[in-house]
Amino acid sequence: MPELPEVETIKNDLQKKVAGLILQDVLITKKAKQIRKPSFRRFKEELISRKIKKAERLGKFIVLHLSSRKFLVIHLRMTGRLLVRKRNTKPDDYLKVAFVLTKNKELRFTDARGFGTIELLNKKELTKLQEKVGPDPLDKSFTAGDLEKRLQRRKRAIKLTLLDQSIVSGVGNIYANEALFAAKVNPRRKASSLSGKNVKLLHESLKKILKKAIKFRGTTAKDEYFVDTEGKKGRFKSYLKVYQRQGEKCPNCKGKIKRINLGGRGTFFCPSCQK
Ligand SMILES: [Zn+2]
Repeated sequence: MPELPEVETIKNDLQKKVAGLILQDVLITKKAKQIRKPSFRRFKEELISRKIKKAERLGKFIVLHLSSRKFLVIHLRMTGRLLVRKRNTKPDDYLKVAFVLTKNKELRFTDARGFGTIELLNKKELTKLQEKVGPDPLDKSFTAGDLEKRLQRRKRAIKLTLLDQSIVSGVGNIYANEALFAAKVNPRRKASSLSGKNVKLLHESLKKILKKAIKFRGTTAKDEYFVDTEGKKGRFKSYLKVYQRQGEKCPNCKGKIKRINLGGRGTFFCPSCQK
């Protein structure tokens, strides 16, 4: 699933390529269950002739601000992709919705497994969503102290706590594993058991890893689903130290990276480095 660096990459692309363009048409395939609300007909009516003013990221959501003061809120979930193509070029597989734009462009939403969502929200609904989403780890105002407060009294494993979007937003399975490795914290530890020093290092590691992953335009993992708006892969995979590297040598010690299942998710760590 695309996480903060992947969604940030897409958001930056959209800001560069489609902000300022006007929606001329919306082509919806019959089975586009991704559109949650409103109805297809109203969705189309509300979008046509509106300008995309800017693209923003909220956790793992992409928010397109429209000139109608409404917001097109997109979540890619497992396999959603946003591709910017020239009009009438080769169709993309699993196309669900095509937003036809000025300047001969098309913003295409494709989704192989079909869990992605597209919603048209008003300001009030967006505010409600913003309140549900936890702080962004890359926000300058998000301190180690904030993270510490948010982890207090959390009895679940630290790894699962980091995946909870209401505690911190944008972190998913890849970067939770990587940040815990960098912070030398065992993913199974209770979140509330982390020392101040642990939290400080975890906070620092999260920021550092997420920023570096953005620089390399995200991670295209083994499933190969994530691509940018041109269909290109992210290049951060070769910098991953533990994620999907079970059985390989730990980069810090002579031990081997282990894979366990935690809350239904593959969890990768070095049992000797991470205490
Ligand atoms: Zn190790």
